[in-house]
Amino acid sequence: MILKTENLSHRYSSTWAIRDINIEIAEHGIIGLLGSNGAGKSTTMNIICGTLNPTEGNVYINGINKRKDPEAAKREIGFLPQNPPLYTDLTIDEYLVYTAELRLIDKRKVRAAVEEVKDKCGLSHFSSRLIKNLSGGYRQRVGIAQSIIHKPKLVVMDEPTNGLDPNQLIEARKLIREIAQEHTVLLSSHILSEINILCREIIMIESGRIVFSDTMDAFNNYT
Ligand code: ADP
Ligand code: ADP
Repeated sequence: MILKTENLSHRYSSTWAIRDINIEIAEHGIIGLLGSNGAGKSTTMNIICGTLNPTEGNVYINGINKRKDPEAAKREIGFLPQNPPLYTDLTIDEYLVYTAELRLIDKRKVRAAVEEVKDKCGLSHFSSRLIKNLSGGYRQRVGIAQSIIHKPKLVVMDEPTNGLDPNQLIEARKLIREIAQEHTVLLSSHILSEINILCREIIMIESGRIVFSDTMDAFNNYT
């Protein structure tokens, strides 16, 4: 099992943001997390990625319990947050070296990892560009590049196609599909057509609870 969550629940203050979220992902491909704004997508993803501790429940990444061995679990996850903290005064190269080192990649392998990921994400010709001077589409590619630099089993992307113009959207979808050949991708969106076009499976969340979870085909037959 690449990802398993066990009765994940989270409360920020008095109200529950998510309740009893159970997810099981065994295979490669793109799995969509669909829900309207405020449904609980970011909360779920932040917990899976370890940037937020759940009030209740467990997360297993590739069989590793996140509570018991957070470092080992972290090595198997890549995360593209909704608003990635891209350190915009760095060049693409500097930023990717920094993230590679943060992900505990062996120092001697950092250079090769950076080159490989730039090649994969179409960034090879932009190495010395400052991130702050990039278009939204290229900045998104940098965000995606950092999420796969340590070759994680699971890549979690929070609304990765939100706010892109049509050309950027086409490029982003293409890149995400390529990434899903080698990694399992859990991707969120509040737009059904986006999940429909990209995903093999769909998990629909409403007011913090899962209301549907099956293949995209089953969803389309059911609705
Ligand atoms: P989504 O990503 O689907 O838009 P979120 O996970 O961001 O949903 O939010 C789920 C619920 O939790 C919402 O009701 C939201 O207002 C609330 N929430 C999110 N973050 C916080 C926070 N830091 N403090 C308090 N409430 C929060
Ligand atoms: P801490 O251990 O103090 O919680 P981390 O080093 O885990 O800090 O995380 C620092 C930041 O890097 C987090 O805010 C998170 O957004 C990001 N991050 C952590 N792990 C990953 C990962 N595997 N993939 C992508 N981003 C990550």
